[in-house]
Amino acid sequence: MNKTLRRAVIAGNWKMNKTPAEAEALINEIKPLVKNADCDVVCCVPYIDLQTALEATKDSNIKIGAENCYWAESGAFTGEISAKMLKTIGVEYVIIGHSERRTFFGDTDETVAKRTRGALDAGLKVILCVGEYLEQRDLGITIEVVRMQTKIALNGVSADELKNIIIAYEPVWAIGTGRVATPDQAQEVNHAIREVLAELYGKDVADTVTVQYGGSMNAGNAAELLAQEDIDGGLIGGASLKAPDFAAIVEAASK
Ligand code: PEP
Repeated sequence: MNKTLRRAVIAGNWKMNKTPAEAEALINEIKPLVKNADCDVVCCVPYIDLQTALEATKDSNIKIGAENCYWAESGAFTGEISAKMLKTIGVEYVIIGHSERRTFFGDTDETVAKRTRGALDAGLKVILCVGEYLEQRDLGITIEVVRMQTKIALNGVSADELKNIIIAYEPVWAIGTGRVATPDQAQEVNHAIREVLAELYGKDVADTVTVQYGGSMNAGNAAELLAQEDIDGGLIGGASLKAPDFAAIVEAASK
């Protein structure tokens, strides 16, 4: 089974939650629960928590990610944080193109591509989010939308660079709503993403790329989603803020 060619990755997206002190407490709660994980475990935290989270995870198997980055290395971009700055302090991962960035903060397929380029150039691993709005699903254009988002974001990314990309399929209607995609719905789109990757890079390369599902994944539904052939992990919002729930998802991915 091709699933064995790729490493499962469970990544928490803490969004705009947790002060540094709260972040340290949550990491310390998660650490012992995931120490035997047979998958990669990542916590993507607000910028202000990065230093604390890096310090708290130094002796552990948890990797730290940011939730966004800017593409230029430095300069007159008030309020922005560059990929290079993140790399400099020891951050390994960055989420790019999350639907909340696209919906509330003006991210477009083009800026997502620029952020992806900047992150790869800085040596970060990218969790690239794609996914359709409910209206797009209802119109029957989910696959077209996700294919286009994937292709634009990966424009100019080489097969070698693809090793540092994880794609997260996140249907917007499932994020933070408690309305999870069915395993069949998620598998269908994750498979379509792998087909685009095969068109762009060849099947052998596509088979090695981790493609996550995200959208109301929790301790109760993770195992069934993660059992799908093309679902290699999860991007977890709400449930990543509760150590036992996050750990249960990590355990489901470790089987
Ligand atoms: C997310 O923020 O990427 C996410 C999937 O959120 P939730 O798990 O809360 O739906």
